Amino acid sequence: MRYLVAANWKMNKTAADTVDYLEKFLPAVEDLTTVDIMIAPPFTALSSASLLLEKSHVSLGAQNMYFAESGAFTGEISPVMLLEFDTEYVILGHSERRHIFGEKDSLINQKMVSAVEHGIRPILCVGETLEERELGKTLNVVEHQIRAGLAGIEEDMVYIDIAYEPVWAIGTGKTATPEQAEEVHRFIRSLINELSKGKDEKTRILYGGSVNENNARNLIKEDHIDGFLVGTASLDPNKFYKIITEVLEV
Ligand code: PEP
Repeated sequence: MRYLVAANWKMNKTAADTVDYLEKFLPAVEDLTTVDIMIAPPFTALSSASLLLEKSHVSLGAQNMYFAESGAFTGEISPVMLLEFDTEYVILGHSERRHIFGEKDSLINQKMVSAVEHGIRPILCVGETLEERELGKTLNVVEHQIRAGLAGIEEDMVYIDIAYEPVWAIGTGKTATPEQAEEVHRFIRSLINELSKGKDEKTRILYGGSVNENNARNLIKEDHIDGFLVGTASLDPNKFYKIITEVLEV
């Protein structure tokens, strides 16, 4: 299985910033072809990013999408619009979408189904809050989010990646220890085996939550961590590059 290192820029960087970043970053990763790399800039930068990524092995991702192809959905972006820019991945169910924008599992599931139908590879984000962890509910929460997110598309698991992102570790500087992350990743892998009836060998289970160039190596050494979804540290091309090289060295 090829590891995936994915950047989630959130609401950062204009189209011009994106061009500056990629002009530095793409030559640096040109030869790092044994790992999958994805960058998800804001929607407004997809067009310029797509032109620069055309001849590169780095994939383009979106941070969200609506499930319908078109219609009266003010402010939303459809899968067809993403495909116009050769968007290969879409991040769905990110904790900021769940907690700030109130997205529920049923909506996330509709988006997951639509992404798979349109051939855009979804990265389903799951993870517990601090309160849920302290109450010992981590595995229950993660199991519920995965079962609900994948309802009806369990047979398509092979076209899907999952990111385990404990909410308490996102953007806080607090990382899960490799052991804490590995426990959840091992559990997710067994759930994937059950849901796909043992047929899925392609789904990566990414870890996300304050990953940086200093903690990446110890995390990726764990057996069931297949890559990262990186927020803050991915905003700096040097740091993101360093994280990718740490993954390659394991
Ligand atoms: C994220 O938002 O997906 C994320 C993991 O952010 P950060 O790396 O900043 O914690």
